[in-house]
Amino acid sequence: MTTAWLVLALGSSREHAGNDGYDDSPSEHYSWDSTVQNHARVAVGDVIALWDRKELIGVSVIEAIDTASAEKTLYSCPQCGKADIKRRQRERPAYRCGKCGHLFPVPRQKTRTVTTYRSVHGKRWMNGRGLLSGSELRALCDAPKSQLSMRPARWERLRRALLDASGRAAEVKDIAAATRLAIAGGHRESVVRVRVGQAAFREQLLDAYGEICAFTGPTPAAALEAAHLYSYAESGEHHDYGGLLLRRDIHRLFDLGHMAVDTASETLDVAPTLHPYPYYAQLHGRPLMVQLRPEHRIWLDAHWLSKRPRT
Ligand SMILES: [Zn+2]
Repeated sequence: MTTAWLVLALGSSREHAGNDGYDDSPSEHYSWDSTVQNHARVAVGDVIALWDRKELIGVSVIEAIDTASAEKTLYSCPQCGKADIKRRQRERPAYRCGKCGHLFPVPRQKTRTVTTYRSVHGKRWMNGRGLLSGSELRALCDAPKSQLSMRPARWERLRRALLDASGRAAEVKDIAAATRLAIAGGHRESVVRVRVGQAAFREQLLDAYGEICAFTGPTPAAALEAAHLYSYAESGEHHDYGGLLLRRDIHRLFDLGHMAVDTASETLDVAPTLHPYPYYAQLHGRPLMVQLRPEHRIWLDAHWLSKRPRT
């Protein structure tokens, strides 16, 4: 089943401190970050449908997702701490909390490191202006009453609605042909893609981290492999970017569950099966050699759950 994402692209008309899809060219890119719900679920090969609350802007298939880290200032209500705050046009104090109703002149500020995402989706772009209204789009979503800026929907339903509204069968067919299920001919798609993209993925990790094994430290590139952590997540969600460089033996032992990561303390956990081997035994409890990103934590926790018996 191909997922379609209805994403809100308000551009410069956005009214609050969020960054709902602000991007210069909606027909090619869409930007979000890890403060947005569903941020890590969007995947290459998913359909992306941009709207501005009034109507559809256009539809395409995600070709790539670029990720990076950034510092972001988050604003919240000084009374209840929720981010649901609105700047008022004329009245003073200038801010009102949508959750608790508190009025205040200056929001609370906090700086946080977030993961930023930018989709590349220009190739199959189909201009959708005038095809579907905001209420028609809402009704197509899995949760029609959702207020999220990224809402999941079923591509099959959106496809039918697009065909009914436009009659542009060739364009819709182009989009359908580029989705991840269509490319791989079934649900084994993530395995296929991982193999195809392995070399590029490893290069990307080497660029990002240098010659360093995330668990043991400096290691020549020839002995480093790219570990795709997301394969441990039961959902099968796919990510092009995100993973860790691991030394070949460490990678193997990690895959088998003889090593895991305690994400709470960011330390290595070496299973008793390896304790007779002094080199591996002394890794137990050691801190990781790289900074973890939010996705890493999710995937490392999934790895732990799938490999370690409950204690
Ligand atoms: Zn509040």
